Amino acid sequence: MATLIDGRALAKEVNAHTKQRIEKLKEKGVTPGIATILVGDDPASQIYTRSKEKKAHSLGMKSVREQLPASTTQAELVQAVEHLNSDPSIHAILVQEPLPNHLDDTAIVNLIDPLKDVDGFHPINVGKLYNNVQGNYPVACTPRGIMTMLRHYHVPLASQDVVIVGRSTLVSRPLQALLINEDATVTITGRRTKDLAKRTREADILVVAAGVPNLIKADAVKPGATVIDVGINRLDDGTIVGDVDFESVKEVAGMITPVPGGVGPMTIASLMEQTVDLAEWSAEING
Ligand code: NAD
Repeated sequence: MATLIDGRALAKEVNAHTKQRIEKLKEKGVTPGIATILVGDDPASQIYTRSKEKKAHSLGMKSVREQLPASTTQAELVQAVEHLNSDPSIHAILVQEPLPNHLDDTAIVNLIDPLKDVDGFHPINVGKLYNNVQGNYPVACTPRGIMTMLRHYHVPLASQDVVIVGRSTLVSRPLQALLINEDATVTITGRRTKDLAKRTREADILVVAAGVPNLIKADAVKPGATVIDVGINRLDDGTIVGDVDFESVKEVAGMITPVPGGVGPMTIASLMEQTVDLAEWSAEING
């Protein structure tokens, strides 16, 4: 039976450390501040934003929300971002996706100050990650959380074969870059991959971020592999499941993340960590 990778317990540890760093910063007169821009009233985004705000407050950060109506124009959204860019009490800006269709999200991401880009989506930060630039810059929070989990559980990365199911810019591509930078051999697969199971069976580390319940069954997993399930799927009866058939795969895998309680809590913990990073870096820059 596989070892459970307990994202909830690890997130607690990470958050405890983040809290200590916040206390130290506060002693120096800096309170880390995160701002979320939420456009419209998508219920999932509301829930998500509320849980991030709750966590930020519980750790002692400043957290503000710019709640804008669904009818917000591009010019109004630009103004909201520019306002936060120039607010010295805000170190991290997060624009909650999805934005309503009439808004140009690429233009908005490009407008966020790269030094406040807590999601790591700004092209400057993405470029640094892809070029394996050494130094301080934010990276996407879900991949960051996955890397923290892999390191914490001493999963070897160098020379390992990693297969990622899904091609998203939010999760899969930045994770690929982080893993390549650690000398792993990484294959990205998607909906049109020929014989997906043949690929996934080659993986020492299998990461699944497709958004398809039970996509990966035991026969698609190499015995002893580490399986990271990023998927969050709500079934008709309200239960939340991942993309991996947990019950069968746990009998084959060496380690496995549960859903819920795996990647999810680590994403929020990484967001909090990264907000504090940005506050620390800005305190260094500003002396
Ligand atoms: P996405 O939803 O943007 O895209 C899904 C990707 O999966 C696509 O690239 C597609 O090619 C691939 N795909 C879909 N069906 C497939 C199939 N049958 N076989 C192979 N590939 C297939 O991706 P995303 O934003 O990375 O989200 C993926 C899942 O992860 C969703 O369930 C999302 O809710 C979840 N998610 C979880 C967290 C977290 O913190 N746990 C964070 C982000 C996303």
